[in-house]
Amino acid sequence: MGHEGAGVVEQIGTGVTSVQVGDAVLLNRTITCETSYTCSDGRQHICEENFLVTGKGGGDTCATIHDELQIGRSFHLGAMAEATVVKEAAVVKMTKAMLFSSAAIMTGFGSAIDAAEVKVGSSCAVIGCGGVGLNVIQGCRITGASKIIVVDLSEERLKQAEKFGATHFIKADKEDLDFVEVRQKVKELTDGRGLDYAFECTAVPALGAAPLALVRNSGVAVQASGIEQKIDFDCELFEWNKIYINPLYGPCKPQKDFPLFRELYSQGKLLLDELVRQTYSLDQLGKAFEDLLAGKNAKGVILFEDN
Ligand SMILES: [Zn+2]
Repeated sequence: MGHEGAGVVEQIGTGVTSVQVGDAVLLNRTITCETSYTCSDGRQHICEENFLVTGKGGGDTCATIHDELQIGRSFHLGAMAEATVVKEAAVVKMTKAMLFSSAAIMTGFGSAIDAAEVKVGSSCAVIGCGGVGLNVIQGCRITGASKIIVVDLSEERLKQAEKFGATHFIKADKEDLDFVEVRQKVKELTDGRGLDYAFECTAVPALGAAPLALVRNSGVAVQASGIEQKIDFDCELFEWNKIYINPLYGPCKPQKDFPLFRELYSQGKLLLDELVRQTYSLDQLGKAFEDLLAGKNAKGVILFEDN
């Protein structure tokens, strides 16, 4: 929605020191002030001074005008435009060797590894192998998980997940919303114990509780897709000592984390080019959304001229 972008700096304001005109940059939505209550407490990703969803930062100081009307921009970025004005904290320098189309999709990976803190040798399940899911799979692989089970309705998406690091594959049945069959298969793969981590990446509200059904006692269930609807939980699913988290952008610190992702990408460990299934021009925006809704692309990217 214009909140993941990359481009070249055309102008800088007074006081800007971290980038120069001509630099290639990634955009991030963690626009921090470093001095608020949340920032001083190490939770810059939800900076209460600047961050859109935490209240105070609701007003976009870099107004975008269309037909003389001010329009809201997703996370103060507005990357679905040929040019945009953003705060200095919203940019991180990238290497010229990286494709803009790949740079534009780094944020999903950030939320995956930062929030989960997956341990070496652990077992994980990823429910849903779209753009978010594929990045969670990569996060699990890079942090050293030994078992990465993927669950999806589509044979094709399961197959695609292998390239990103999936080790075991479960084709789910659309009718099995309580995950009775999936749970059984996961148990067989984990000596009856259940998994250390399970990630829900489908954005299907009915599956909001599904990761809880797959983790072991004291396991961690992560709702990574951003479900905002009401979900019914059977509290028994939390037994015993299971943890359910709903991370918002992970505890992502882009100025620190993005250079790491850049490094992993240049080493060939973090696959980004492979995530982009389709690119579009801005004129094809409608088709891009149609394809996204139809599940035709894990990640579609809008490319502008001169890329
Ligand atoms: Zn702050």
